[in-house]
Amino acid sequence: MFYVKEQLNDTVGISIEINDENVFCRCPHCGSEVQVDLAEVFADGKVDLFGTSVLCDSCGKKLAGGKQCGCEQT
Ligand SMILES: [Zn+2]
Repeated sequence: MFYVKEQLNDTVGISIEINDENVFCRCPHCGSEVQVDLAEVFADGKVDLFGTSVLCDSCGKKLAGGKQCGCEQT
């Protein structure tokens, strides 16, 4: 299993197992929280945790469906 480890202070640290329910990122367009399935991110073969971003559902739909609402900020 993979897990994240964080030292809270000199004596206390936590380790949290990474699963398909506790990984999140911010949508690069609107900043909303997006749940990420790492298996999907890994599936394309190139893994770049810092260079990869995942769009939220509504931004993904907006981009896929063209700029209909005109409210996109660049
Ligand atoms: Zn978004």
